[in-house]
Amino acid sequence: MKNTEISMQNVTALAKRRGFIYPGSEIYGGLANTYDYGPVGTELLRNIRNLWWENFIHRRDDIVGLEASLISHQEIWKASGHTSGFADAQVDCKNCKLRMRADHLIEDALNGKNVEGLAIEELDEIIEQNKIKCPNCGKSSWTKVRKFNLLFPVNLGIVEGDQSLAYLRGETAQGMFVNFKNVIESTRVKLPFGIAQLGKSFRNEITPGNSVFRTLEFEQGEIEYFFDPNESNWEDLFENWKNSIWSFITEKIGINNKNLRWREHTDKERSFYSKKTEDLEYNFPFGFKELWGLAYRTDYDLSQHEKGSGKELRINNPQTNEKKLPHVIEPAVGINRIFLMILCDAYREEEGRTYLKLNPKIAPYKAAVFPLLANKEELVSKAKEIYKDLRESIMVTFDDRGNIGKRYLYQDEIGTPFCITVDFDSLSDDSVTVRYRDTMEQDRIKISELKDFIEKKTR
Ligand code: ATP
Repeated sequence: MKNTEISMQNVTALAKRRGFIYPGSEIYGGLANTYDYGPVGTELLRNIRNLWWENFIHRRDDIVGLEASLISHQEIWKASGHTSGFADAQVDCKNCKLRMRADHLIEDALNGKNVEGLAIEELDEIIEQNKIKCPNCGKSSWTKVRKFNLLFPVNLGIVEGDQSLAYLRGETAQGMFVNFKNVIESTRVKLPFGIAQLGKSFRNEITPGNSVFRTLEFEQGEIEYFFDPNESNWEDLFENWKNSIWSFITEKIGINNKNLRWREHTDKERSFYSKKTEDLEYNFPFGFKELWGLAYRTDYDLSQHEKGSGKELRINNPQTNEKKLPHVIEPAVGINRIFLMILCDAYREEEGRTYLKLNPKIAPYKAAVFPLLANKEELVSKAKEIYKDLRESIMVTFDDRGNIGKRYLYQDEIGTPFCITVDFDSLSDDSVTVRYRDTMEQDRIKISELKDFIEKKTR
């Protein structure tokens, strides 16, 4: 089912118009599947990152942070299975040369048919049997399905020959596994505990144009939660993680829970080492899609790196004096997908007005301050004074361009919850008009109470 009330086109048009997202390398004709974040988009991204970090690292005593290198040793990706298995199946249209992921081609043509985990021969057969047409030229003339590795290779200048090959990381997770020994030796952690990381990952993806949903570089928030399966029940841990993720998205980010669902991976699509994988999916305008993956990965990753590196990655159980490889549960989310979800969920077109009903906690600006008229010095200086005072502790913006109506229009579209206007009465009664984004109602508030009022409503 698609969230048909919102058009993706309108959301992306607003995102460009108001400085959330710009197409990458635009003045040179663009570079497919890359995007830049504009001034308000950058603030929103930072707010998402900060909330995630605060919620999963600062507010917990069992998770520590990490920031690993983006460029990493080729052996890491061999041991993790990425150089051989991290591949998408792709097909090319022989007529117009359009390149597509085979699963996306089939899903789009056959009403969302789920083909995850099928062999390439099976995908070939489905495309052929259903005579699936090219969405670009309408012909049904496809090459055979081929696997295409998603890792971006990089060549290092300081080493010769084969050893010069390294990879831009395809996920942040491997950083946690290769630093596992460092973390247990340099900190006071004890099982169960998590290592978390927030940062860029790179995948050479072919993708249909759904804005920042799938891009070549993107930001992940991943946690590897290590535990001893004899001491902790994995099913309970898994359930706890589902609850933490759900309450983060619905309560902290403020997403409508009607647009969210958990979907369990079938045996075919689940990785062979995973005992259970579930995706939290959001109902984007282009259908329910993965936002956040949650997987019980057993001890697969650490055991692969023990084999690959020859280093022991075990942890000592002080009770039994036994050294064991911990098991791991991995919650992994894309920060840019949270960003896109937030825009889609907040987008409103009502009675000729467009606005973003953003949770005030994550809105780029908490309030905007205006002088009623830009050419009245006493109003401007009073408004500037209020703005500067609020700016000390709250993210606020100032605007004296155009008329009040235009200023409201702009602030509505970037989701600013409160607009504060300094008018002639303000000069005598030390009060301002506060206008609410969602209801457009207005209140008169004392300047001395303003900071408290906004802080209470936006924290
Ligand atoms: P998908 O099936 O959509 O390709 P995935 O299962 O490969 O995703 P994971 O490897 O589990 O994704 O990565 C964890 C999270 O990172 C995903 O849930 C998603 O939010 C995000 N993510 C993955 N690939 C991309 C991408 N190319 N662009 C933006 N976000 C991404």
